[in-house]
Amino acid sequence: MMNMKLYNTLTRTIEEFKPIQEKHVGMYTCGPTVYAYPQIGNWRAFVSEDLLRRTFEYLGYTVTHVMNITDVGHLTGDNLGDADLGEDRMEKAAKKEGKTAWDIAKFYTNDFIHSRELLHIEAPQVLPKATDHIAEQISLVQALFERGLAYKTDKAVYFDVAKFPAYGKLGGQKLIDKRVATRDELVEDDQKHHPFDFALWKLSPTDGPRRQMEWESPWGVGFPGWHIECSAMSMKYLGETFDIHAGGVDHIAIHHANEIAQSEGATGKPFANYWVHIAFLTVDGGRMGKSLGNAYTVQDVITKGFDPLVLRYFYLTGHYRKQLNFTWDALQAAAAALTNLREITWRSQQEKERTVLSEEKLALIDGFRKQFIEALSEDLNIPQALAVVWEVAKSNIPGIDKADLIKEFDAVLGLGLADWHPESFEIPNAVNQLVVERTSVRDEKDWAQADILRKQIQALGFDVQDSATGPIVKKL
Ligand SMILES: [Zn+2]
Repeated sequence: MMNMKLYNTLTRTIEEFKPIQEKHVGMYTCGPTVYAYPQIGNWRAFVSEDLLRRTFEYLGYTVTHVMNITDVGHLTGDNLGDADLGEDRMEKAAKKEGKTAWDIAKFYTNDFIHSRELLHIEAPQVLPKATDHIAEQISLVQALFERGLAYKTDKAVYFDVAKFPAYGKLGGQKLIDKRVATRDELVEDDQKHHPFDFALWKLSPTDGPRRQMEWESPWGVGFPGWHIECSAMSMKYLGETFDIHAGGVDHIAIHHANEIAQSEGATGKPFANYWVHIAFLTVDGGRMGKSLGNAYTVQDVITKGFDPLVLRYFYLTGHYRKQLNFTWDALQAAAAALTNLREITWRSQQEKERTVLSEEKLALIDGFRKQFIEALSEDLNIPQALAVVWEVAKSNIPGIDKADLIKEFDAVLGLGLADWHPESFEIPNAVNQLVVERTSVRDEKDWAQADILRKQIQALGFDVQDSATGPIVKKL
């Protein structure tokens, strides 16, 4: 059996994975802040983490996966740096939508769970909410006080980075230097000792409207800083030292650096042994952002007529440590490939009889399995693993055995290939005509007209997907 190798941001090398408990993985992944729909860049990280979990499960490990729900304390300025600046995202969304912060949290948590299911991301065993773990966060801050790593000002309780020499070890000194260059001006609290000191507990403002989410604490009424929840909840459910902590690359310099400082500062023990970070998703070759109008959501993908699993297939085409570029054309290509793979798998499993496999065919199957595991073991090379699946699909392995092998591999890919079957239905003439028309305008690369025709097809209760062998019509 191959040993899993993973790139560890902590050591900046690819290491052989050694679990704390034999054949078990404790994994914590940073979850969504439930104030808006996650965009497809966030989902790339969540799907990649799911692929990592499924890989371990395929390799015979049990995985305890904990993912948090951030439903308080994540300020609009937090992603900019250590600044603890800006409005609370939850309360800001509540104002905008005319709801309470609690309703906002509930709505977007439910949406997250629903979209997670659509993308076939396995449910974490524990999905703790920050607001359900206020006591744990307070006692962690108390532990930091006891160790002399925290101090209080009139506005907040801070972590004292100068007292923790290993601060920033995750990102390397370069990232810290970069932050010095850009962060100097962002000091909201002049009682702060160092600009990198970050809030563990924020005191509610005494002037202005009351916050909707606030709690009593030994330091006064307020709410937890964003980072402390991940330390408190990961250690509660996985222990003070656990195997893997994962998240997007945007978390390395600040959020994860702060998590390490708080956790190791409080316990004096290593926090997570392996840090796995997922690269960005770009859109049309550039940055994705709400202000750019291209921060697409799962719902946008569905509205455009795509099965959400097409998005999942698209994610499989890029290695998690490399940027992946999203375009609607690339998604179209993923749709065609997925349709093709579904049909091959379905057709293969329709065969009535199982052929007795020759030695040669058995060796072929074993060879594919070995290549598949090798690809996964090499720092989760999913595009390579997907290429192996395609080799199987195109091979001369007899029907049912081919379908079985593809379905076995799909335990990792999560494309639901075992469940798919073409629905038998009659295509009305009107729909057929539109499909033919659409094919001809597509041949002329008149995408706008093709889009209009597709909408007309959808209005009649059908949809069309393009595959290598031509258009495929489906009932909506
Ligand atoms: Zn986190």
